[in-house]
Formats: sequence, structure tokens, C-alpha cells
Amino acid sequence: MPTTINGIGTTYFGKKNVESYSSACESCGQVTTLSDYETGYYICILFIPVIPLGRRMILGQCAMCTRHRVMPLKEWETIKEESLSQGIDQLSSNVDDSNKALELLGTYTAFKQYDEAKQLALATGKSHPGNYDVQLALGGWFEEMSMAQEADECFQRCLNIDFDCPSSKRIRCITHLEQQQLTEGEAIALELFAQDPVSQIGPMLMLVTAFESHGQDAQAYKTYQRIVAGVPEIKEDKEFCKPIRKLEKKLGVTESIVPKRGFFGLFG
Ligand SMILES: [Zn+2]
Repeated sequence: MPTTINGIGTTYFGKKNVESYSSACESCGQVTTLSDYETGYYICILFIPVIPLGRRMILGQCAMCTRHRVMPLKEWETIKEESLSQGIDQLSSNVDDSNKALELLGTYTAFKQYDEAKQLALATGKSHPGNYDVQLALGGWFEEMSMAQEADECFQRCLNIDFDCPSSKRIRCITHLEQQQLTEGEAIALELFAQDPVSQIGPMLMLVTAFESHGQDAQAYKTYQRIVAGVPEIKEDKEFCKPIRKLEKKLGVTESIVPKRGFFGLFG
């Protein structure tokens, strides 16, 4: 990381191709905005960049603590070119291999080659209409890219292939909740959670949000109680406990289902 003492030291100067996204910081752990960008690295005198030390690629710079990873831009570009051409070679030597297609999709996405990634995702979806895992992975990818229609098409194909497997139940649960069909959504969320509490917390939390947005606070709290009963270790998660305490206050609950906050509430 650049440092200066009395204005003399090193600094980054300029930002190019900035990509910002929401994620957890590797250093401070807070979920915040992280940025990747290209910059110049300079020796500076009296805070003015004077001697260039080369271009750098900054990865995952945290908006809260500013920590990040860094590598010379050339090295970054070499890794990018090599990874992409390797992925393309592997897929072209076996164009029907859906795993290779999904791997390349991951590589395109990691290197933010979104146009190529979208084309590949659409083509892969068309070539493997009957492959459940491919459609499920692509549905998730389209969702991440905010391409709701394409995502829904993939998820619908999953339902057509196997309506009753756990992943399809999860798709149906989320669809019900999105369409404000809380009773139907709750039934499936509870069924999934009973089978595998740890990996099916997601639909339960969506259910909490849905209940709260409909003013059904008591139902939301009941869902929290079920989550805590099914996965007791989640009580150690500070961020998970915060909204529960808030809801308990609103409902006038005196005996909390989560541990008390630290000293004077400072650490909660
Ligand atoms: Zn941070």
C-alpha cells in the first residue's frame, strides 16, 4: 500500500476501468462496495506524483477500510489473456461439454468480459435445454446479471425437467414469495428447512422479509424463532441478530431468542 511521510513516499494516481460491486471485504469483513481498477503507482514528493513506477491493477478495494490486493497491470493482463484463451481452447476442443462452457462463463465473469459472457450463457442454455444442472447454473448467473427474463426461462426449464427435487422446490418457493403468495411460499420454505436447515436458511430469510413487508410482524418473528431453533449457531452472527432484536422491541418481546448485546450495547 502506498505510504507518504511528510509528503514523500509512494502514491496511486488516477483510476481507469473502475468496476464496483457489493461484497464482503477480505480484510475487515464488512459487506460494502469493493472496487477493481487500473492505476499508476508513483514516487511522490510533497504529495505530487513525480516518478512513475508502472501501472497497477487494484483488486477489491474496500470502501470502508481501503485495503485491497494489488498486482502489476501487465501481470494481471497476462493472467487474464492466458485464462481466457485456455478456457476457449478447452471448450472448442469439446463444444458439447457443458462443464467447460460453465467454466469459461465463470472466467469471463471474473475478468468482467460481460458481452462475451452473455453470448456464451445464451448459447449454452440453448445447446443444453434438458440439462438440469446447466439450466440451474445459468438461471443463477442471469439473475446475478439482473437479466430476469432469461433467468426465469432457465428456472422454468428446470421445473419442466424435475418439478420435485430440492432445487426446484427452492425455485418454486422463491417464485411464490416474489409473487406475494406467502402461504404457498411458506409451506415450501418450511418443508425445505425441515429437510436441511443449514443450506435452506435463504428461503426462510426471504419469508421473513415477505412477512415484514406485508406488516405481518408476528409471522416474521415466528419464522425467526424457527430459524434459531433449527440452526442455533446462527445466534453468534451479529448481523443476523440485529433485526431480530429490533423486531422484538417492536413486538414488546421481553425474553430475547438471541444473546444480549455486549457491554452497554457497544459491541452488538
Ligand atoms: Zn474493508
